[in-house]
Amino acid sequence: MDPIFSPSLHRQRHQFVIDFVRRNKPRKVVDLGCSECSLLKKLKFHREVELLVGVDINGAKVKKKMHGLGPISTDYLQPTYDQLRVELYQGSVTQKDVRLRGFDLVTSIELIEHLTLADVECFSEVVFGYMIPVAVIVSTPNSEFNPLFTGLTGFRHSDHKFEWTRAEFQSWALKVCLEYGYEVEFTGVGQAPPGQQESVGFCSQIGVFHRRAGRDHCNMLFGDDADDVFSYTLLYSINYPSLRDNNILRRVLVSEVLYWTEKLKRRWMEEKTGERDDAYTLCLTEGGVEECLRALERHVDMEEKQTAACGAEVKHPVVSEDQEGEDEEVFWTNGKGQQESKKLHRCVCVPLAALWSCCPKVSALSGSLSNLRHILMEDPEVKLSQDRSAVLVQEEDLEEEDHNDLEDSGYAEAGQCSHNAVQEEDWEANI
Ligand code: SAM
Repeated sequence: MDPIFSPSLHRQRHQFVIDFVRRNKPRKVVDLGCSECSLLKKLKFHREVELLVGVDINGAKVKKKMHGLGPISTDYLQPTYDQLRVELYQGSVTQKDVRLRGFDLVTSIELIEHLTLADVECFSEVVFGYMIPVAVIVSTPNSEFNPLFTGLTGFRHSDHKFEWTRAEFQSWALKVCLEYGYEVEFTGVGQAPPGQQESVGFCSQIGVFHRRAGRDHCNMLFGDDADDVFSYTLLYSINYPSLRDNNILRRVLVSEVLYWTEKLKRRWMEEKTGERDDAYTLCLTEGGVEECLRALERHVDMEEKQTAACGAEVKHPVVSEDQEGEDEEVFWTNGKGQQESKKLHRCVCVPLAALWSCCPKVSALSGSLSNLRHILMEDPEVKLSQDRSAVLVQEEDLEEEDHNDLEDSGYAEAGQCSHNAVQEEDWEANI
């Protein structure tokens, strides 16, 4: 069937919504007649959107691909402060459901022509009179364009109950505006061939509705219990990982701290033993690394002096030449303020201040050095020095470790990947 659009008409309709979302930045969006969720999948990459909801009468269609709306591994590995919740419902747009009130944007893309005219009236009342969103985008076929499809007799789809001319669509839209306090602009996608645009219009006609300012009082209606109906069935819901969730923030921060502690320790040991290996080059400016190493050095010196001053009773785990090869008892807090002791080889202390100044992500995530200390004190994975000013990490013998090189370089690469991923994941470019 011609004309064939490029990009396809389906993509052009979705692109129209995406452009609207980019300009208007709605936080809560619902797609009515979402079918297999293809528009929702594109919208989930728009991080201004915090709640993304899809509704379709056909639950089987929704279920087919709904898991594609879930977070991907990058969302877990590199969570941001953005928040996103996705909900999918089976239900009819002719019925009210309180969970769909108060949205910023409602989209209805090629849906209304699947309803009987009586149901279109219900749709108008549910969407404009009950859901009362800030904006609504409605697209539907423009029947005036149909003669350009050679061989098309009847409607474009066997399930269509009607296909409106531009005048019919506009008459319905203007009536809705009058009744429910909206204003509308008409446009469309799918250009007619040159010279015919004016006579036939767009292939898909679109009405963009905005709630009039005077209707702002409608928010008061949202508290009306009489209207609290739950007629839709929830099929799927998911919260995306976000750094606003304290558990996730803690997990990311701790893994970043452990990663950089290991890096700094390794670099310091290489400096000490003169076995510095460029394979371990840190992802930092050289100045930053050197500063951290100096801080590490200072801290070790200080710890050694403290050890001497305190005597043998409470030994701080520090690297010292004369203890080489000996096991040493070290103490750390177990997160509940109690001390635990454990036999292990010598430890390197990586000062929190060094981590703070070397790793921008650690400082950004923790907000302050004392917050960082607080968070690490609570975490069983992190061992802090007794004065809680440094992370303790077990020293390894570099010579014995040669067989681990592959693993280590994998670790370094994984680390680099995790840092590079931020730049590579340009989701906007993928949609
Ligand atoms: N909006 C989709 C898109 O842009 O990819 C395509 C919509 S498809 C042409 C029409 C959808 O409307 C179907 O998935 C159908 O199940 C759904 N539908 C039909 N009547 C409905 C109703 N009363 N309530 C909700 N969804 C309905």
